Order: sequence, then structure tokens, then C-alpha cells
Amino acid sequence: MKFDTLDLASELLRAIEEEGYETPTPIQAQSIPALLEGRDMLGCAQTGTGKTAAFLLPILQHLIEDPTAGKPVPRALILSPTRELAAQIGKSFEAYAKFVNLRQLTIFGGVNQRPQVTALRRGVDVIVATPGRLLDLHGQGFIDFRDIEFFVLDEADRMLDMGFIRDIRKVLEMLPSERQNLLFSATMPNSIVKLASAFLHDPVRVEVDPQSTTVERIEQSVMFVEREHKKDLLRELLRGDEIESAIVFTRTKHGANRVVKQLSREGVNAAAIHGNKSQSARERALAGFKSGDVRVLVATDIASRGIDVDGISHVINYELPNISESYVHRIGRTGRAGREGIAIAFCDDTESDYLRDIEKLTGQPLRVVDDHEWHFPAAIPSANPSRGRGGGGGGGGGRNRGRGGGGRGGQGGRGAQGGQRGGGDSGGAPSSNRRRRRGPRRRPGGGGSGSKPG
Ligand code: AMP
Repeated sequence: MKFDTLDLASELLRAIEEEGYETPTPIQAQSIPALLEGRDMLGCAQTGTGKTAAFLLPILQHLIEDPTAGKPVPRALILSPTRELAAQIGKSFEAYAKFVNLRQLTIFGGVNQRPQVTALRRGVDVIVATPGRLLDLHGQGFIDFRDIEFFVLDEADRMLDMGFIRDIRKVLEMLPSERQNLLFSATMPNSIVKLASAFLHDPVRVEVDPQSTTVERIEQSVMFVEREHKKDLLRELLRGDEIESAIVFTRTKHGANRVVKQLSREGVNAAAIHGNKSQSARERALAGFKSGDVRVLVATDIASRGIDVDGISHVINYELPNISESYVHRIGRTGRAGREGIAIAFCDDTESDYLRDIEKLTGQPLRVVDDHEWHFPAAIPSANPSRGRGGGGGGGGGRNRGRGGGGRGGQGGRGAQGGQRGGGDSGGAPSSNRRRRRGPRRRPGGGGSGSKPG
């Protein structure tokens, strides 16, 4: 399938081409036609699958076909759990809307609100926001939700994890009832299903399995090591030049700071990105990482959302996440959109259960790399006969050089995977009470106030 079979405006096709996209990713191929028809959507997909374009392109198409008359008013609202993801979505918007006269504003806290207020006064078509600052600005009377026609809740599971449910409900109450709703979530626990049924009307369901998208393309391994030796193992891995750039994950902000300090002492240029860092510090760290000045970005789970940097060769799980879905998100930072990546997990004896959960979720045992100085068999989860064994390939010096060595063990499964599940009606969704759109939006001559906010 090609993008030009998708009924998108030539301006969008041109922008897609400039981005270098050749074919729609599975989630794009499955969602775009239904979204162009105006259907609500429940998408089970995570970052790295191309889901941002899957929702932005149809929204842009609608806005192009039905332009606003006069000053732009917010017609699409995209809610994101973190500033980084919001900024990333905003950036994607700018790329896809490069050849059209539509303005977006990314709203998040931790920065001065004045530029956001100024942009709102000038008028915007699309708002990408984290819930707190959005409600704050709305409370101050700077945002009008009356014309919202598209509502996207991105990374809904993470939203709930971060305690945003009340904010989401507040926002939903203020939106006009006639609108197209989209919900994306990497996982579908009951809480998400419940939330979805509260505001999605007869949604199309699209599920892109993480295994067939991100996880399978990533070379994954685990190294068993005592907690106190993790720093030595990391130092050893970074000693060679195989790891050009890496994201190292820790469970806590404290842990992230500790790793950065240690790496800096050893002469490795590293920066931390976590919730206690100011927005400007996070941006500096990301910019340094993107430019190559910072070789290692040390991140906690929440801060890592939305990090979209090309060419991250390695993800190192310095500490395993206690929520196994986070593992999939973490390793999704490498191997994005078709490229390959390498993910290495450090597992100490307090983390064996986490490892077991991760392998259960992904359905594939991680390849064990045990030819290193600090190999610690006591950390190996017991009763796991299916674990694939294999040296690191290359051996020597305790470094994992292997990309090919060792079997991965069976591709145990989570049953039928991939593709669209159902593709049809959700059943049980509340009956639609949509109103017809209020009044024309024609912009005379199709022209518009040209410039986009910077
Ligand atoms: P997302 O899941 O939306 O965060 O997208 C992940 C990455 O895939 C981003 O770097 C996008 O620029 C890229 N991407 C999205 N769609 C495509 C496509 N059709 N072909 C190639 N890359 C894509």
C-alpha cells in the first residue's frame, strides 16, 4: 500500500514524502481510512508504530477540507501525559502540516505561560497539551473548547498511571458532544476499556501488536549481575565504541542522577532526564543527545515518553522496570519505524521476577549474555527451562559484542498477533448523540493568516 491510495490532500502527501515515509505503517494503513470517514477509534499501539501520523494526518485532512472562516479556533485537542510526548506530537504536526495554513500550539507546564497565551490569542487550529496546564489556561479563560471537533487521548494507560483521570474527565465534560474521539493506549487494562466506553462512540478498533512492530526487530539480551556491579558492567559496555549513543533506564530519579555522576567521573558525557529536572534542563539534555554531544541519556520511564531521536543504537535497562509494559516502551526508543536496535537488560537478584514478567508479556525469553566478569547466576529466575542460552558472541573483555550469537529461545507466543483485531464495532458503546456542526467554517478564498507560531 502507498500513501497516495489513502485519499489525503496533495500538501500532506508532499510533506510525508519529505519526511521520507514510503509506505504507511500497519497502524496508519488500518486507521487512516476509518478516521477519514469520521469514525471514533480505539487504538492499541505504542510509540514507535507511527501512531502519531495515524491520527494527525486524518485530522489535518479534515481541517484542510473544511477550513475555518476568519481567525483560527481550536478544533482539535490532543492530550498527552508528558511534556516530551506533547512536544514530539507538536513537532510531527509541524512536519506534516508544513504545506498547509494551519497552526498548532503545544501547551505544557513548567514554563512561562505567556507565550502560550499569546499564541492562543492569535488563534490556533490544533492544541496539543498535557492536562494540568491546559485546565489551568482554560480556568483563566484563555482557551475556548466550544469548537473542538477532534479529541485524541494519547497514551491513555500512562495518563491513568500518572493520576490524570480526574483531569481527563474534567476536559471531557467541557468538550462539545459532537466530535470525533480517538483513544490510544499501549495496553488495554480494564480501566482503559471503561474509560473508552465512556466517550468513544462505536469505535473502530485497531491493534498493532508490539511484537510485530517494535519488539521483534530489537536484539534483546539480559546480563545477570549483582546490584553493586552494575556500574562496572555499564562502564565496561561503554568502554568500546560499539555503543554510539544509548539511553540508560533507571527506576528512580535518584538512580538516574547516580548513574550520570558515575559516568561523568569516568569521562562519559551523560545527562539525566527525569521529573525533577526543569523543562530547560530536559530540553538541553535532549538537544545534546540529538546533536551527539551527549553520548548517554539516563532516563526514568515517565521522562522517556515521547523521546524520538533517530539513531539510538542501544537501550540499556540498568534497572528493570517493575511494570513490564514499561520494558516494551523503553526498548521502543531504539529500533524505531523499521530500524533495528539493541536492548540490553541488567538483572540483579531482586529483579528476577520483573524479568519473568517481561518475558511473559513479550513472549520471548531474552538471550542471556554470561561471558562477562560480573556474571551472577543467583539472579537467574528459577524454573525457566525455556531460557535461551548463548554467549555474547565475540566474547573477550566481558563485552557483549554479539548481535548474532546465541539463540533467543522459542518465539513463544501470545496467541494470534498482529494486524487488526475485529476492525469492527465495539458493541455496547453508548449511542451517538452527535450534533451537526454549528455553522459554516468557510474561509473566504481559502486563504488564511499565514504564519505559524514558532
Ligand atoms: P510514532 O509512533 O508516531 O512516535 O512514530 C515513530 C517514528 O516513526 C517517528 O520517528 C516517525 O517519524 C516515524 N514514522 C511514522 N510513520 C512512518 C512511515 N510511514 N514510514 C517511516 N517512518 C515513519
